[in-house]
Amino acid sequence: MIIVMKAGTEPGEISAYCEALKQRGFAVHCSVGTSQTVLGLVGDTSGLDAESIRASHLVEKVLRVQEPYKRANRKFHPDDSVISVVNGDGKESRLGGGYLGIIAGPCSVESREQVVDIARQVKKAGAGFLRGGAFKPRTSPYSFQGLGCEGLDLLLEAKKETGLPIVTELMATHQLELYEDVDIIQVGARNMQNYTLLKELGRSRKPILLKRGLAATVNELLMASEYIMAGGNDRIILCERGIRSFDSYTRNTLDLAAVPYLKRQSHLPVIVDPSHATGVNWMVPLMAKAAVAAGADGLIVEVHNDPENALCDGEQAITPAEFASLMKILSGYAALEGRKPGVSA
Ligand code: PEP
Ligand code: MN
Repeated sequence: MIIVMKAGTEPGEISAYCEALKQRGFAVHCSVGTSQTVLGLVGDTSGLDAESIRASHLVEKVLRVQEPYKRANRKFHPDDSVISVVNGDGKESRLGGGYLGIIAGPCSVESREQVVDIARQVKKAGAGFLRGGAFKPRTSPYSFQGLGCEGLDLLLEAKKETGLPIVTELMATHQLELYEDVDIIQVGARNMQNYTLLKELGRSRKPILLKRGLAATVNELLMASEYIMAGGNDRIILCERGIRSFDSYTRNTLDLAAVPYLKRQSHLPVIVDPSHATGVNWMVPLMAKAAVAAGADGLIVEVHNDPENALCDGEQAITPAEFASLMKILSGYAALEGRKPGVSA
């Protein structure tokens, strides 16, 4: 961090200010110019609030040279992180570090038949994980809210039937105890900055799928992951799922450039959700391919066996057959780039 002191600050005030910073554990390099003095702070400044430094009457401006996230930062962890879960077949479902991991399934769990049928079909096509919402964050309180606990039980049945690890959204900390057998906990876009939830998940040892907020910057997404990591849980998957923009030709605007940016800044796996990003089923395979080409470590895709009658997000669901053809193309792409399949042999 670089602190530019106001012109005319007395040398005595500057040395007292430097002393205070040293007391806080930083080494301070002071360069005295003809009119202004510049201080360079060495040490971990992630805990320093630039705004509070700026508030001092002695300070002209503050420049951060280091990102405020440390644990998520690739600088301190150059190797890619890999999320690996042992599935019911004794194989590993993996994501990140060259493994292309695919999460697929319905938006919401609707019935035993629905979720087990979809699980079987996406597994056959090569998915490594099954998704499905039990507790749903819906914009309208009158829309289908998910089957709740029954939905979780049905997901567990689908896991037993197919061996696929399950991914489902947690909306409130008090429900965490219900998620004991869930393999990956999803934090939805609407909760990306629910810091109470993030702190609680920092104490969990389960992998967390953290979705980007509807109007969150990528740096805010990284800071949200830092919250979980600061609590001791470093098993995080970042997910770009589209953001709000001025245009409404798609449900959200897929920010694909976030993928290479996040992967450069962080070691955490980055996946894309082409379903919520576009909101229209015919675009999903196209954006899924684009996401993999952009370097995504995986995808989370909504697949439904009867999209027209789906209780939630039917218009963006692809069918199991469409998913299977997409998977064929993706495995070809992945092989071309020397990437490895998400499910071990
Ligand atoms: C979902 O994945 O079902 C979902 C609600 O996603 P998001 O939080 O990205 O809207
Ligand atoms: Mn959905």
